[in-house]
Amino acid sequence: MDYFIGGEKMRPIIGITSGLKKDVRINSCLNYDYVAAINSAGGIAVILPVITDENQLDEYIKIIDGVVFSGGEDISPYYYGENPTKEIGKTCESRDSFEMGLIKRAISENKPVLGICRGMQLINVVLGGTLHQDINTQINNSLEHRSSEDQLGSPHHRVKILEDSLLYKLLNEREIGVNSFHHQSVKDIGTGLKPVAFSSDGVVEGIETTKSSFLLGVQWHPEKLVDNYPNLGNIFSAFIDACLGKKRI
Ligand code: MN
Repeated sequence: MDYFIGGEKMRPIIGITSGLKKDVRINSCLNYDYVAAINSAGGIAVILPVITDENQLDEYIKIIDGVVFSGGEDISPYYYGENPTKEIGKTCESRDSFEMGLIKRAISENKPVLGICRGMQLINVVLGGTLHQDINTQINNSLEHRSSEDQLGSPHHRVKILEDSLLYKLLNEREIGVNSFHHQSVKDIGTGLKPVAFSSDGVVEGIETTKSSFLLGVQWHPEKLVDNYPNLGNIFSAFIDACLGKKRI
């Protein structure tokens, strides 16, 4: 497919953030389902490695039309003004710092942002929100939100979606089944954001901007469900349209 047809850009370049896996070697790592979901929705997926050079961050932002912030480690509670509790999971300072720099630039330059799992939490934290460091110990009667990894291709719990939301317009359902692989969740909501999806224990499962830009976060992993539940593909296709400067709805 031509990248440009009649001067119009047909496929946007989508940066997807990745993690660092430190073993004997250091590897950049990203689950391939993110790449597949973006490519099938019409984007050109580019995996962004964790880098520490601020000037290089500026260059990345120029290249890409939108960013997916992917799942991964816990965000350091330092970024939302808390000390770590005993239940905090693994954190990665270089990834935190890279993604904070990237998301600030994306928001200020009005590039569409889709946050998945950790990515949703990152959206909240960068806009001044806070997180429950551990759902099991901080939310009474909480559900089990961390299923085993082999269950991620099928729904694990239900979420209710507020009708007055972009997410509802995209999915056209008040309640859906989602997978779940997290032990943290949004506590205080960030400035200019609203929570739009909840599980039955009150855990926030979706957030979005109250402004006109595309800034959407989901706590579950639609990239792992989209093959069997194609309605969730609307999240990716609306994001891609926003990256092309088209308003889908
Ligand atoms: Mn969940």
